[in-house]
Amino acid sequence: MSNRTFTMIKPDAFAKGHSGAIIDHILKGGFRIVALKLTRLSREKAGEFYDIHRARPFFGELVDFMSSGPIIAAILEKENAVADFRKLIGATDPAKADPGTIRKLFAASLGENAIHGSDSDENARIESDFFFNSFERY
Ligand code: UDP
Ligand code: MG
Repeated sequence: MSNRTFTMIKPDAFAKGHSGAIIDHILKGGFRIVALKLTRLSREKAGEFYDIHRARPFFGELVDFMSSGPIIAAILEKENAVADFRKLIGATDPAKADPGTIRKLFAASLGENAIHGSDSDENARIESDFFFNSFERY
C-alpha cells in the first residue's frame, strides 16, 4: 500500500466551508480519490484513532475537537503517497508550514490544523481500515 495514504478534513476546515478548496488542492497535487465519506467521530472513536497520543497533554482537547463536528475521510492514491501528502499538507503547526501547503492556507492553530495525513505506510493501512471496508474502495 506504499502508493496509498489516508486523510481527514478536520472539523475546523469542514465547518469553515474549506472542504471543496482542500479537495481541489489534493486533486491538483496529483492524488486520486480511492474512497471518500462525510462522517463524524464520537469521542470514543476519536480517542481510538489518536490512541498513540493518549498520554500527551493535548489528548483531551484533541478528542473534543475531532468529535466536535463532521469530517471528510478519504483514501488517496499516488506514487510515494505518504511522503508526498505530508509535503502537500505542511507542518503540524500552520505557523511553521511552508507557503502554499494546505495547513498554511486553511489552518488556524496547532490544534485545529485543518487536515490529517498518515505518517507511514503501515498507519495509512490501519487508518484506512478504521474508516472504510474494502468494497468501499475503487
Ligand atoms: N496536536 C495538538 N497539540 C500538539 C501536537 C498535536 O493539538 O502539541 C494535535 C494536532 O491536531 C495534530 C494531532 O494532534 O494534527 C496529531 O499530532 P501529530 O504530532 O501526529 O501531528 P500530525 O501527524 O497531524 O502532523
Ligand atoms: Mg501524526
